[in-house]
Amino acid sequence: MTAKPPATPWTEDPILLTPGPLTTSPGTKGAMLHDWGSRDPAFIEMTARVCRRLLDLAGAGDAHAVVPIQGSGTFAVEAAIGTLVPRGGKALVLINGEYGRRIRHICEIIGRDHDALEWPEDTPPAPAEIAAKLEADGAISHVIAVHCETTSGILNPIPAIARAVAGAGRRLLVDAMSSFGALDLDCAAEPIDGVMASANKCLEGVPGIGFVVARRRALDAAAGNAPGLSLDLHDQWRAMEQSGQWRFTPPTHVVAGLDHALAEHEAEGGISGRGDRYRANCRALVGGMRALGFKTYLADDLQAPIIVTFHLPTDPSFDFEIFYGRLKDLGFIIYPGKLAAIPSFRIGCIGHITETEIKAAVAAVATVINEMGVKDCG
Ligand SMILES: *Cc1c(COP(=O)(O)O)cnc(C)c1O
Repeated sequence: MTAKPPATPWTEDPILLTPGPLTTSPGTKGAMLHDWGSRDPAFIEMTARVCRRLLDLAGAGDAHAVVPIQGSGTFAVEAAIGTLVPRGGKALVLINGEYGRRIRHICEIIGRDHDALEWPEDTPPAPAEIAAKLEADGAISHVIAVHCETTSGILNPIPAIARAVAGAGRRLLVDAMSSFGALDLDCAAEPIDGVMASANKCLEGVPGIGFVVARRRALDAAAGNAPGLSLDLHDQWRAMEQSGQWRFTPPTHVVAGLDHALAEHEAEGGISGRGDRYRANCRALVGGMRALGFKTYLADDLQAPIIVTFHLPTDPSFDFEIFYGRLKDLGFIIYPGKLAAIPSFRIGCIGHITETEIKAAVAAVATVINEMGVKDCG
């Protein structure tokens, strides 16, 4: 005999204080309790509605298209690079964290000519250095930047980078994975040809879809660029334009979850409403953790309200495995650090959570460091 499942099986789930996947709303979870035929008009209409809403959020109009792609966010990044940077092009990758390094790795693997400029993980890319590099190397066709570098949580200055790239007459791709929907980014601005993001970060959907907001002119010129079939953004775009259908099995439930999550996003007041809640979460987190003696990795003026990196306490009583495990027992899942040089851990501000959950998490941190006998959290 199988037991009847509880009506809300998720009420005991820990809160996810990570860069994603995140805690989602009951409504978004509930929207996935149906099955859809992938070639049925109801699902075709749902896909179109989702793409339209994403286009609006990007501040884009008819000159742009939203092309969704099955998979995690990296699939969308790889699809955008492979499709929008032509085979004879050259990418300049701006690196100040793991996601910039991943972009360079993608260029290596798919065989796109590339170069990189690197900064320390607590330092934003410098537009003057980018301009000088573009002046020195006329072969560079595209610059690829990360908006919020989730490795540290730093906010990179896309408008200033875009001005440097436009001044040199080159094109720009932006990985806005961890900021799309919460922080303003004018995706239609010149010279941006593509903005890559996914369902399961600030949009508060579930994982399984990445998407690219792409300039139609760039998509149009991109036939035959992609090194493979599944991540060919041009082909996916053409198929969707013609039939409204995904080329291959779509993540139907993920689309339904995102459709609902986007309605909730709109009801919250769009990007400014969502951003305000995350900014309040971030203030409560940083203030609460500092009151316990923890030190943030970034200066406040560089910190995006997405995820906060803290130095690991040097107190010998502190043990990250125990810290993580006890916080999970108390209902909160945090995230290890990913900085190249410095021992750290991260706590996210995003997902279907408010200051109430953040304050409860900080109280749990206080409980656990007391249990461990940590005297100094710096
Ligand atoms: C999350 C994230 C990605 C994509 O990661 P996936 O694990 O593939 O979803 C890419 N870039 C940034 C900046 C991110 O935060």
